[in-house]
Amino acid sequence: MFDEVAEYIIEFYPDLVSPAESQARQWLLFPGHAKEPRELPVDPNAVALIKLGPEQLHIHIRDRVVRDHGSELIFNRCPQCRRVVRTPLAQQCLHCGHDWHNNSRTGATS
Ligand SMILES: [Zn+2]
Repeated sequence: MFDEVAEYIIEFYPDLVSPAESQARQWLLFPGHAKEPRELPVDPNAVALIKLGPEQLHIHIRDRVVRDHGSELIFNRCPQCRRVVRTPLAQQCLHCGHDWHNNSRTGATS
């Protein structure tokens, strides 16, 4: 399983992932059905990222995007365990099971 923050960034902030990072990820995760050895991307930066392997590539993407675009990122975190949850609108945590679906409506009476 990949780093949850990296997965969140890749899914919900795809524009912040560089072309080389995206190419490397595609190459590592989607090998296709070719029986012959696949050609590496032309971009030497993508080739260098492929050499990291899938787990380290995800950590690289996470760290690089947080470093370069940290102020643009909004993470939806579980109010109980503080881990990043699956989507920006999720109201249930798959890590600890906490559910805060009804909390957003409480306290709003006038
Ligand atoms: Zn949680």
